[in-house]
Amino acid sequence: MSLREFLKNMEETGEVIHVRERVSPVFEIPAIMSFLLSKNAPIVFFDNVEGYDVKVVGNICATRKRLCMALGVMENELYRRIIDAMNNPEPPKIVDDSPVKDVIEEPKLSRIPILRHFERDPGPYITSAIVSARSPDGKIENVSIHRLLVLDDRRLAIRLVPRHLFKLWNMAKNSNRDLDVAIAIGVHPAVLLAAASSPPFGVSEYGVANRLLKGKLRLIECEKVEAFAPSESEIILEGKILREGEAPEGPFVDITGTYDAQRLQPIVEIVNIMHREDCFYQALLPGGLEHMLLMGLPREAAIYDAVSRVVPNVKAVNLSLGGCGWLHAIISIEKQTDGDAKNALLAAFAAHPSLKHAIIVDSDINVFNLEEVEWAIATRFQANEDLIIIQNIRGSTLDPSADMETGLTTKVGIDATRPLKTLKDKFEKASVPLTDRAAKIIDKIKTGQVSY
Ligand code: MN
Repeated sequence: MSLREFLKNMEETGEVIHVRERVSPVFEIPAIMSFLLSKNAPIVFFDNVEGYDVKVVGNICATRKRLCMALGVMENELYRRIIDAMNNPEPPKIVDDSPVKDVIEEPKLSRIPILRHFERDPGPYITSAIVSARSPDGKIENVSIHRLLVLDDRRLAIRLVPRHLFKLWNMAKNSNRDLDVAIAIGVHPAVLLAAASSPPFGVSEYGVANRLLKGKLRLIECEKVEAFAPSESEIILEGKILREGEAPEGPFVDITGTYDAQRLQPIVEIVNIMHREDCFYQALLPGGLEHMLLMGLPREAAIYDAVSRVVPNVKAVNLSLGGCGWLHAIISIEKQTDGDAKNALLAAFAAHPSLKHAIIVDSDINVFNLEEVEWAIATRFQANEDLIIIQNIRGSTLDPSADMETGLTTKVGIDATRPLKTLKDKFEKASVPLTDRAAKIIDKIKTGQVSY
């Protein structure tokens, strides 16, 4: 269950293109990746990277279709698979041998074609790596995705929001230790998706990934630190998040496409690097479709699950792209009583704490068609009755209009479902009756037999 195996399948399905011209990892690769997102977002290999003998591959999980193919599910089963994996993690087997041990060498990060993405970025950033660590007693493991700024050949600055890895780092600091970490680059999409999901502290995301991969994930133990990484990774950086010292991190373009603030953040010292003989580097464009999908999909599943607990029938959830795949949710439900939509709003905010604006619509509205959603707001919503405003609540630190230090924000919930107390007819989308004769004429126009 390796990334390269998945990429081979994708190559056969015609999802991959190759750029054979020489390109630089400084701005050029991200510029081409960004452009390709509007051209059906194919997976793109950069075969000739200036100054490196390592290839770069990007936009791997940039479409829902490909993520579904990676998990081997139909789109309508996707949430259930993710929820099932979060609820039933299976610890993966640990093996000794792995192709990632082909080459073991002294750390020299400048040998890896790490991209410089945006104009004001302070340096090259690793954006597709999973970081795993264990608690000092070895009982708790966490795997998560963090942006990593290259400081020099042996050091990275790591953005640690106060979540699970931050907690493990604090536990290590309290026992006067650095935190050992395995940083794996080039892992199967299921592992990335699991690392982007948020099961409770104490549940290892490797278990979630292994469940998603039907028990086929294998881990290896690192050589010089006490941490574990997928045995099929392309590159593994072994390191320690130092208990002391900080470095300026940022500004960095995150999921919103705006520059996140510069902050003092912990330092990772790399002590060992392993990679496959013919390894490639996985690039992930910050603020691009892949970023939104990987971060957003597990949250859509979590919202679907949470809203299902308060409303019997949830049809669909969309963390819309205009909302950065992160801050806006549109949820369609089948309402039983008039209070249901407001309970659904509260459940959605609780399930995804970064969520800022949420809209509930009836099941006749397609949540992926934003004109239909706007139509529902225009014709079924009255602000004095159907609007919830929650002030001074914890939201996303990535939103430039919120307090980016504390994350305090204002959340708005919109109940755009039609009131049940009023006759349904009033809110129905009207349609013109279609007679056989009219249908035949329309068909002729469609097939080009007549033109006007
Ligand atoms: Mn976790």
